Amino acid sequence: MKRVLTNDFSWSKSRHEKLAECERAYFFQYYRSWGGWEQRAPEEVKTLFGLKKLHSRFTWAGSAVHGAVRDALRSYRAQRPVDAAALIERVHQDMLAQFRHSKARRYRADRRTFEGLVEHEYDEPVAPAEWKRNWDTVKGALEWFFASRWPALAQAIPAERWLEVDENDFDHSSFLLDGVKVFAVPDFAWLEEDGTPRVVDWKTGGAREGYDDQVIGYAMYVAERYRLDVMRVRTSLVFLNAGTEQEVAISPEALARFREHFEESTGRMRALLADPAANVARDADAFPLTTDLTRCARCVFRRPCGRTGG
Ligand code: SF4
Repeated sequence: MKRVLTNDFSWSKSRHEKLAECERAYFFQYYRSWGGWEQRAPEEVKTLFGLKKLHSRFTWAGSAVHGAVRDALRSYRAQRPVDAAALIERVHQDMLAQFRHSKARRYRADRRTFEGLVEHEYDEPVAPAEWKRNWDTVKGALEWFFASRWPALAQAIPAERWLEVDENDFDHSSFLLDGVKVFAVPDFAWLEEDGTPRVVDWKTGGAREGYDDQVIGYAMYVAERYRLDVMRVRTSLVFLNAGTEQEVAISPEALARFREHFEESTGRMRALLADPAANVARDADAFPLTTDLTRCARCVFRRPCGRTGG
C-alpha cells in the first residue's frame, strides 16, 4: 500500500536554527515547499523544494565525512576490514563526480545523483583554492579519524553492544517529548562492557552554540529507545578536524535546560500556525524576511526572495 506522507509538526535542532536565522526561510523550508516532489505540484512549490535540497560546500563536506565514517563503522560492526586509503579515495572520486554534476546544474533534472550546491545555483565566485580547501577539510577529518583511537575501539565492540550508527531512519530516529516528535540521529552509540551507554557525535567544524543540546537530545533518544537510564548515558563531541574530544555531561540541570529550550522553541513555532492541530502555517506575511542581508547572501532561497544582490 502506498504510504501517505503528512507534514506533521516535529522538532529538531536544525528546525530550531532555521527559525532563528530567518522566519521566511523557515516557512519555505518546512511549509511552502511541502509536496514539491510531486509532478503535479505548483511550479513555485517545486522550485522551493529543489532549492531547499541544495548543500553549501561546507555542509557537503560534512556529509561526505559523516557518510565515510558511517560506512567504516558499519564495516567494523560486521567485522569487515576497512582500507582507509581506498575509502578516502572513493570519497574523493564521488565528490569530484558530484561537483561536475552540480556545476553543470544537472541536479535540476536529476536530484537522485546529487542534490547540487548553492554556489553553482547562484553562480557564486568560488576560487579553485577554496574548493581545494573544502576537500582538504574532508581528507583531514578522515585521516585523523583513521589514525585515532576510534577504529580500534569500534572493532573491539561485540555485535550485541552496538546500538546505532547514523541510522538516518526518520521513521525510528525520534522520541516524543510533550507529545512532539523530536528527531535525533546519533552518529555512533554503543554499550560499554559495564552497560554504560555511550553516544558520540562527529563534527567537522569547530565548536558551536547548540552542540551540547544536540547530544543531550541524542542521550534522551537512546535512553527512551533502548529503555536505559538517561542519567547513565555518556555523550561526547568529537571534532575530527581539530582532533579533539569534548564530553557533554548529562545532569538534571542539563536535561532541564534542554527542556526549557525545547519549550521556548516549540512555543515560538506553534505561534506561527493557523491550525496547530493540523500543522497548517499562517500566511507568508506572518513570516517576515530577515533584515540581516549577510544571511541572505548564503541562503538557498535568495532568488524567490528577490535577494540575489544584483
Ligand atoms: S533570502 Fe534572506 S529573507 Fe529570504 S529566506 Fe533567505 S535569509 Fe530569509
